[in-house]
Amino acid sequence: MNVREHRGVAPSSPGSVLAEAPLSAMWEGMVADHAGFAAAITVRERVLSDALLFAYSSASVARNLPIVFMGAGPTAPLVFLQAFLSPPTVTCDGARQALIVSVDVAGDLTFSNPSGAETHPIVGHVEISIPPVLMLAAGKVRLQPDHSDVKVITWTFTVSDGTVFKQDTDAYLRSATVRDRLSATVQWALDINLLPLPSVDVTSLGAVIDAAAPPASSVLGPHGQPLPVLVEYPVPARVVDGALVAGFNVENFTAPWSPPGQTGGITLNGDAFALEAFADPYDIAVITNPEALPIVLAGVEQQLVAAVGPDRTLASLTLSAGHDQFDVSGSITETAAVATFSFSIVPHMDAERPGGLINSPDNGSLHIKIKPISIAPRSYAGLWFSAVDPKIDISFDWTDAVLAALGFVLIEPGLIFLVPIAFFTIAQMLADAADEFRASVTSANAGAPVACVHHVTSSTLDNVLLRIALEKFSISPDGPFMGVTVTPKLSPPALVGPQAIPANLRTQALKYSVRLPIGVVADDPYLHIQWTVIDPANGTVHVNSDGLAKDRTSFTVTPEQVAPGLVGYDVGCRVYRTTGLATTDIFEDVVHLVVTPLRSSPVYVRWTVTTPRPTVGLDPTTGWHGGWHLANRRSTIHRLDRVNSPNDPRCQARASRGANLAYLDQLPFAIIDIDKHRHELCDYCFYGGPAGLRETL
Ligand SMILES: [Zn+2]
Repeated sequence: MNVREHRGVAPSSPGSVLAEAPLSAMWEGMVADHAGFAAAITVRERVLSDALLFAYSSASVARNLPIVFMGAGPTAPLVFLQAFLSPPTVTCDGARQALIVSVDVAGDLTFSNPSGAETHPIVGHVEISIPPVLMLAAGKVRLQPDHSDVKVITWTFTVSDGTVFKQDTDAYLRSATVRDRLSATVQWALDINLLPLPSVDVTSLGAVIDAAAPPASSVLGPHGQPLPVLVEYPVPARVVDGALVAGFNVENFTAPWSPPGQTGGITLNGDAFALEAFADPYDIAVITNPEALPIVLAGVEQQLVAAVGPDRTLASLTLSAGHDQFDVSGSITETAAVATFSFSIVPHMDAERPGGLINSPDNGSLHIKIKPISIAPRSYAGLWFSAVDPKIDISFDWTDAVLAALGFVLIEPGLIFLVPIAFFTIAQMLADAADEFRASVTSANAGAPVACVHHVTSSTLDNVLLRIALEKFSISPDGPFMGVTVTPKLSPPALVGPQAIPANLRTQALKYSVRLPIGVVADDPYLHIQWTVIDPANGTVHVNSDGLAKDRTSFTVTPEQVAPGLVGYDVGCRVYRTTGLATTDIFEDVVHLVVTPLRSSPVYVRWTVTTPRPTVGLDPTTGWHGGWHLANRRSTIHRLDRVNSPNDPRCQARASRGANLAYLDQLPFAIIDIDKHRHELCDYCFYGGPAGLRETL
């Protein structure tokens, strides 16, 4: 069934007495989620918003912008805003058919004409409407509307210091004219690439994307070398409330096998108006049209065609999406003989990494006694495929010899929804007997499963970890469905620095730093950071340093200089934002720094040791393999008082037996640089564990 009618649109039926609502409901179920496209994708607005927030938070983005309102003639008044942009958010607005990007701005707004100039501090709000015009090229879907279609739809502000603009000025600044001038400014910023629009990498959708955007034939460069041509293909899209939905068309895709007599390839053109969100409860979802299975399973077709060879004919081949499986069936002919075959491909999302045993090296080259390494099997979320229920029916004219001549048939479905998903081999599909065929299909090696959960870090954001998980892969007559969740894990704001120092370090400079929440940036001209040093015994304030956040996210203090002789210091940090008359607290914390008695020499220990280290790998077909090499390993530095009476058994200091010990009375670097040297210090001796943020020296 391939119904293309729009949702909610009744067929022309003059005699119909049904009311509109029941008709809508009746037709609701009849449009497939793929809407006739080869594949359709739904992306929720939260994913788009998060992506914009992370882009905003990276250091390379300009957040302080001098904005000259453009788009008016030379006689128009000058309108200028020295703006700081807050983190943007994205809303998918179905009624407007647009992505709405909302940004709060704060800054000094200047109005100037020949009769004078006025400037006041303002807090403003801008909403920009972007139509969902998407282009696909080089595996990326880009938002690429005509810049003239990007419009500012909301522009409001309040003067934040309690003053006002003159009445005429105020009316002009709030007028549609100024809003349109801001639109022109945004369009200009897009033209010169000052505001890059986001793109989504869809290469992981694999074969369908390759078919939707085939590479163009290359052109020859000045020295006759082929130059790639980047061809862009439109991706029809629609905005529904809360999500962006897009479909991928395929034009004239030539599958490895075509039915006899068929000319031309597979063309699937969907109907953008029929796209609806189908992601629930996932963040991103993809559904593939069952008619696109020859594209998705082109690898299966390719291997079948190759195995059948030129002397025989693959007379029929059917790939279909059933309930929880792909069904493959077909027939092979040679003169009067016919063999029909069928099997199914079933997805699984529970994978197991096999166990293994890696024996000691037997040549004695290491001259160290080594125990074999035993690797336990491990279950994990991984997608893999198995072939089940193979059947072959051979007409009597086929002799065993003819079948044997067919040799091996390798089947590789190329189910590349997430690259590289599965290399899935069914060997010896047509052997010299149906039984053997059946046995070999069922025992086929499904290849290495692909992990369903990936953690992605960003080089520009060290406090964000993205967990991307394939939560659901299912097959139904509507087509294969994939549901993905995208979960950001954000490091919370924190005050970092030493919490205990031995008395001799009180004359050294100590460094404290604050980790800001995501979306709060130090170059925000309204953000303030206040550092204090207080005597906890009597509340005396020894340091009170308050100012703009820029260059103040860390703070240096030498305890003996600010207050000699104390046994404790409270180092406090407060982060707050002030716009006009309003103040918002963002973060506040205190480190209770304790000065501890000097410990007897030596204080710290580290060691070097030569150990045999295994190098192991897992081959999907041959299992575990490995060997040994000798490595000179230098330990982290440990506190000797903790080595002697280990507080935490996870501290590796116990492993120092037999090693070449080196004792230290001081750390081999300036204490103020301790952040850069954290990897040289034992997490347990100095930080209370790997997640610890404050040193006990
Ligand atoms: Zn330790």
